[in-house]
Amino acid sequence: MSKVNLAYDFRSDTVTQPCAAMKEAMMNADLGDDVYREDPSALALEEKTASLLGKEAALYFPTGCMANLTALMMHAQPGSVLYAGARSHIKLYELGSYARIAGLSLVEVPDTGGRLDFEALKKSWFGDIYYLPKAGVICVENTHNMLGGLVYPEQELARVAEFAREKQTPLHMDGARLFNAAVAKDCSPTVWTQHVDSVMVALSKGLGAPMGSILAGRKSEIDRALAIRKMLGGGMRQVGMTAAAALYALDHNLPLLARDHDRCRRVYEAAKEVPGLDPVAPDTNILIINMAEPKAQELVAAADAVGAKVMAVSDSVVRAVFHLNISDEACEALVDAFRKWGQR
Ligand SMILES: *Cc1c(COP(=O)(O)O)cnc(C)c1O
Repeated sequence: MSKVNLAYDFRSDTVTQPCAAMKEAMMNADLGDDVYREDPSALALEEKTASLLGKEAALYFPTGCMANLTALMMHAQPGSVLYAGARSHIKLYELGSYARIAGLSLVEVPDTGGRLDFEALKKSWFGDIYYLPKAGVICVENTHNMLGGLVYPEQELARVAEFAREKQTPLHMDGARLFNAAVAKDCSPTVWTQHVDSVMVALSKGLGAPMGSILAGRKSEIDRALAIRKMLGGGMRQVGMTAAAALYALDHNLPLLARDHDRCRRVYEAAKEVPGLDPVAPDTNILIINMAEPKAQELVAAADAVGAKVMAVSDSVVRAVFHLNISDEACEALVDAFRKWGQR
């Protein structure tokens, strides 16, 4: 495969690359053995993110999948039930680890619009008769990846949180792109995190660090997460190299997310004028384009012809993601490709 021009790579915000200054920060990072909890850069990152997220403690993970799985394992007993969205990342893209490793069964809750259907959640809840499955954990996703980077409305989250408290069931937020939500709404991430027991945020997506995610929550629970992370093979050593990249990203790349959102909105406005394309109005940096006919591969090829890479999510859905390495020229080229496809 030929090398993709990064500025034209709309497949995901995970493709971002560290800039020279970020690499410099990595080169100069203070290091230690993080399994002994002696890596100053990793500890600094955990302290900073705990504070940004309004939680007592945070733990650095190699991936979001491992952080989500650890959250499930720290909250829920094997054999209990995970209540999560039908189009959630945890259900669709984590290889069923909630079942295979955490030992949970899944009750899917409809999540049209990126939020759990509250009435459906209540309806699907098992009663507390002794022979029925016990509730383990509820998960929400913010922003919602597959449904187009949608921001979870705070009032709706508050309702789920109240219900979770009533049922004495922990609430976890898959907040891989929570910082996108915060920048889009010009507020602190704590607007959402105040309602949840734990939250995962990705550093390797729009923020542009080469790897890593954070799990934040109560000190007593994050202490248990440390052991679970080790058990899953996530005990890392001189991990300050990449923690320093994440610290750089939080200091320098966080405000740049607004630029991604603007570009996403501009491409959306143009795409919605193209016959046959029905894009979802974006809240943040993900553009989901529903198509009247199953011609996703055709649209991907049209983008390809101008050097732009987008992803077919299904026969009739295409996704374009905006990130810090995307250029304005690339956005214009993508719009041109959509228009040309519309006139074919
Ligand atoms: C990317 C993503 C994850 C998983 O992160 P990885 O670092 O790729 O394991 C989890 N949830 C959502 C919503 C994501 O977009």
